Amino acid sequence: MTRYRWHIVGHLPLLERLEKDIETDGLSHSYIFAGPPQIGKHSVALTLAHILQCEQGYCYDCTTCSQISKGIHSETIEFRDDGEELGIDAIRDLLNRLYLTPSARYKIVIIERAERMTTAAANCLLKMLEEPPPQTLFILTTDNIRELLPTVISRSRTLHFQTCSNTELLDFLSLEYMDREPRTLELACELSLGRPGVAFKILEDPDMMEFYTMLYRDINRFFAFNNIFERFAYLQDLVEDSHKIGIFLDIFTHLARKKMIEGGSGTQSDTSCLGTGTDARYLALLDKIVASKTALRQHVNPRLLLENIMLSF
Ligand SMILES: [Zn+2]
Repeated sequence: MTRYRWHIVGHLPLLERLEKDIETDGLSHSYIFAGPPQIGKHSVALTLAHILQCEQGYCYDCTTCSQISKGIHSETIEFRDDGEELGIDAIRDLLNRLYLTPSARYKIVIIERAERMTTAAANCLLKMLEEPPPQTLFILTTDNIRELLPTVISRSRTLHFQTCSNTELLDFLSLEYMDREPRTLELACELSLGRPGVAFKILEDPDMMEFYTMLYRDINRFFAFNNIFERFAYLQDLVEDSHKIGIFLDIFTHLARKKMIEGGSGTQSDTSCLGTGTDARYLALLDKIVASKTALRQHVNPRLLLENIMLSF
């Protein structure tokens, strides 16, 4: 049980760890929340800010809570992920702001997807971590901790976030979306691959629901029918949109992994397509997908990478 009202799906051991840090006066001056996208890292960071800034430990009601929710609280500075690099000017401005303005309570800096920082920006931040301004708490979230400077990591306390279990997610969605059909909620859980942020998007946006459902169905069809022309034609639309490629690879990984766990029995309808493979074959395929994800971040031609995957099963 947690003491504060986090209103977060899953991550209970991490929330308890943070509460212990608060209660024992053992908060680190810098945290890294690492783990896959859309699993609640930023929500936990923001809720931690509420808990520390609100006089009643996140009452949901006071001026401070309201300002933090609206992103206008002067002592809670958020760098939301806008898909752009985070340059040194923004971090230098932050540095001036933190050292020059005194504060009664905490100054909390949340940097979403901290791997967006340029090397110069990260080095500037490092100076702050080496000599932290008083009463300042940094929370860096990252989808890929290997892209952060080792020196930034070594000066922070890292919490590793995992995807949520189906039960955790379904229980939460059942309370949040009481007017929705149970089958719809189960489908959102299944398609989200344990990522609450994705489940919310799917339930809020019918187009997203359709897109995820389509990918699930299409990937199954590729496995079921070894039609290389169809597979390559499909890539035509996909390669134009890096966001879609990411979702495609996630669902692809999920289905291959699920099949491998099931021991290649081929009894599940959504993975029966992989029934003729062996564990070694799945592992090789999964390795290839992981390598492709890394290569995509390094701007290797996405069509070549996806074609290579499509030829591999
Ligand atoms: Zn409050």
